Amino acid sequence: MKRRCAVLGALGLLVLPAASRAATTPAQAPGVWPQASQVPGGIARVALGPAATRPVAHAPGDGGDVPLLVLGDAIEWTALVGIPLSAAPGPASISVQTEAGLRQMAYTVTPKKYLEQQLKVSPRTVDLSPEDLARYERERVHLATVMATFTEPLPNGSALRMRVPVPGRRSSSFGLRRVFNGQARNPHSGMDIAAATGTPVIAPLPGRVIDTGDYFFNGNTVWLDHGGGLLSMLCHLSAIDVKPGDALQAGAHLGAVGATGRVTGPHLHWGVMLNRTMVDPALFVGA
Ligand SMILES: [Zn+2]
Repeated sequence: MKRRCAVLGALGLLVLPAASRAATTPAQAPGVWPQASQVPGGIARVALGPAATRPVAHAPGDGGDVPLLVLGDAIEWTALVGIPLSAAPGPASISVQTEAGLRQMAYTVTPKKYLEQQLKVSPRTVDLSPEDLARYERERVHLATVMATFTEPLPNGSALRMRVPVPGRRSSSFGLRRVFNGQARNPHSGMDIAAATGTPVIAPLPGRVIDTGDYFFNGNTVWLDHGGGLLSMLCHLSAIDVKPGDALQAGAHLGAVGATGRVTGPHLHWGVMLNRTMVDPALFVGA
């Protein structure tokens, strides 16, 4: 899942035409964040009904059940469910534990056709050297532990509208399926924002820094934990000005835009993760 920006940026494709933005803008009641969009790469808001105490909800995952962010109050609880880009359209369910017992709650994933790009590139940008592959593998194992972070306190459910971490033109390339030299690669799982090297990057929500590092594809990266399995990832930075353990307010400076990792042009790649699933950041910021 880390290949995306790299080659996309290298080919000068990191910002797509503004016209394609409308297609990804969710239609839903204003003031509800994140917006619901029950498609692969989107978020389902599953109503759990009333309960005296917060229900405990899980989604099925490859390595076992994954805890879900449940928000609300005794009158009405809601589970926010990040839907993987790889999810098959059709019925899906989560498990919900309350005082009344364990039950399955169903929701439906509706299909969404993301654009596909067929690209011809230099073979070495598709097939990594053994050394690069080994490094990538080490980083993948480390990042899996970062991505599994689920902490309390949970985020404030009425304040989940995020700030865009850097001003600039936002692409709608989330979900873009890339086929390099005939080989399918992981889809683009974040938002690319065009900005000059050195442009300050801010925290989109209050959060704690849980990881910083220089990664093969993503370059200098900061991971923020907003609580309840909601994480942000800021990539390709030229400077990292925070360290693990730092607690940031929304809008706090954390680094600067750059072109580190597998990119040739400066931009910010912003990923938002919910229940270990990369979801479309646009659902948190609106149009
Ligand atoms: Zn990107």
